Amino acid sequence: MSHSFYLRQAIAQAIKAQSEGQNPIGCVIVDEGGAIIAQAHNEVSKRNDRTAHAEMLAIQKAIRAAGNDSARGWTLYTTIEPCIMCLSTIVMSHIGTVVWGAEDRHMEAHKLLTATAYMRTRRLVTIACPDADIERECERINSEYWTSMGRPDVLRPIEGED
Ligand SMILES: [Zn+2]
Repeated sequence: MSHSFYLRQAIAQAIKAQSEGQNPIGCVIVDEGGAIIAQAHNEVSKRNDRTAHAEMLAIQKAIRAAGNDSARGWTLYTTIEPCIMCLSTIVMSHIGTVVWGAEDRHMEAHKLLTATAYMRTRRLVTIACPDADIERECERINSEYWTSMGRPDVLRPIEGED
């Protein structure tokens, strides 16, 4: 199966979050053989828990399903570039590869991966936006949500920093 196939599964999860009025982010984790071992969507509002991001919930499910030891062979697919919490958790879980559908121009968490020697030694493989149609779809879903929340600023780079 292709990156696009798994990203579409992640979009299906994002749409579940959207239907619950949550920030619409979805995630699936695939093992070395290509089997989906976990799927989750953002549940921050539902759980009243700011750590209940799609990626965090999917990682917990994957570990329950398959244990820690095979994580290096896993690929985590998420609709939007992971935030700093999720990207750090992906690294600390020893997951081998992360693929995201669209960039997060606001947080730019991927910069963490080169910020310290430790992060560089982890050698997380990142694949950003491998499919242009999926990238547009992920951006559209994300942008509709933040615009409806009156927070279009969350879609843009933070001015005056870096
Ligand atoms: Zn996150």
